[in-house]
Amino acid sequence: MAQLSDDCFAFGGALTPLDDALAVLEERISVVAEVETVTLRDALGRILAEDIRAGRSVPPHDNSAVDGYAVRFAELDPDGETRLPAIGRIAAGDAPDLADPAARGAVRIFTGAVMPAGFDTVMMQEDCREDGDTVRIAPGIKRGANRRFAGEDVEEGAVILSAGQRLRPQDLGLAASVGLSDLPVRTRLRTALFSTGNELREPGAEAAAGAVYDANRFALAGLLEQLGCAVSDLGILPDDRATITGALAAAGTGHDLVLTSGGVSVGEEDHVRAAVESLGQIHFWRLAIKPGRPVALGQIGRTPFVGLPGNPVAVMVTFLRFARPLIDRLSGARVHVPRLFPVRAGFDHRKKANRREWVRATLEPCNDGWTAHKFARQGAGILSSMTAASGLVELPEDATDIRAGMTVDFLPFSELGT
Ligand code: AMP
Ligand code: MG
Repeated sequence: MAQLSDDCFAFGGALTPLDDALAVLEERISVVAEVETVTLRDALGRILAEDIRAGRSVPPHDNSAVDGYAVRFAELDPDGETRLPAIGRIAAGDAPDLADPAARGAVRIFTGAVMPAGFDTVMMQEDCREDGDTVRIAPGIKRGANRRFAGEDVEEGAVILSAGQRLRPQDLGLAASVGLSDLPVRTRLRTALFSTGNELREPGAEAAAGAVYDANRFALAGLLEQLGCAVSDLGILPDDRATITGALAAAGTGHDLVLTSGGVSVGEEDHVRAAVESLGQIHFWRLAIKPGRPVALGQIGRTPFVGLPGNPVAVMVTFLRFARPLIDRLSGARVHVPRLFPVRAGFDHRKKANRREWVRATLEPCNDGWTAHKFARQGAGILSSMTAASGLVELPEDATDIRAGMTVDFLPFSELGT
């Protein structure tokens, strides 16, 4: 049967391409989160508010990389064993204390201990033998071996962490290594989260025929919390315009972002868009994507609003590709552009032109890398496809006919922080 209307103009409005929607965010959305100082132990996952410079070099002094003997390379016989008097001992944490720094000899030294002045090389203890007051040293070492230089990790004054990055465990370790005990971070974005739908029930409650348990709020709260947001979980709203309007109006104050799922499409029971329009504005509400076409960007007063679709897979995909960049911008985080990796398609797939599409897939090694296998059930409501898959094959707007063996872009869930 012929289609009655071109997809782009169905329901009387054009579909917004994802890149245009992202460009609207870039143009209109700026950081709202403020700056606070937290201790390193509280900084994991937080967004750094300022560039951080090292107030000290790491390591702060030249030191030994092994347990052994510090020597002057020039005193070693290149062709045979060298015997040097044992002239001192330095352990990690000791200040070097040689009776006569000019004296010929070998200094017992341990990993991390400060190199004595004038000594340039450390022999591993396995290559030396103590013989009374002398140390016998095998030939063959290179000048400078096993010596670590002051500042070879971090130079004093260098920028070690930059504004907008989400702090990872290794970032906290690096900050600690230059002696910082706390960091300036962005305040947590205050997000309000609702599900909408008369059919929805709270998990744990009775669910009669016709009811489904609310899955989206739990997935979304997790996604928001992974991004460091503070989540006000405001429960389930019925499909009732007045109730939705009242609840959204209340959530618009005291939050930096209001997020809903469901009720944003064109059905008679979809009241979310009209409610937002009555409280502010809708900028667009349909994206040229699959899954997840109904995605609304709007504002309640001056507070940004995102209405995600109801279908649970569409919710997660649109969150990751659209809501996340919005949240990054509001939070003062560097906008995360997910990296796509080329893999072989292990499936045939036809799609419409002019829309971005994501196929849930698992990866399997093949002789030239990885093959992506399409999860059998791709419906926008098949949430088990998200738990079974390892990521999404992202198909661009102009692709229509994907054949097994073609190279396609794979977006691992690890790139999306899930
Ligand atoms: P809607 O966009 O409100 O028409 O919802 C589309 C589909 O998603 C319907 O089958 C809803 O029952 C389902 N749905 C909406 N919200 C949720 C939710 N929070 N949890 C699980 N399924 C939902
Ligand atoms: Mg609904």
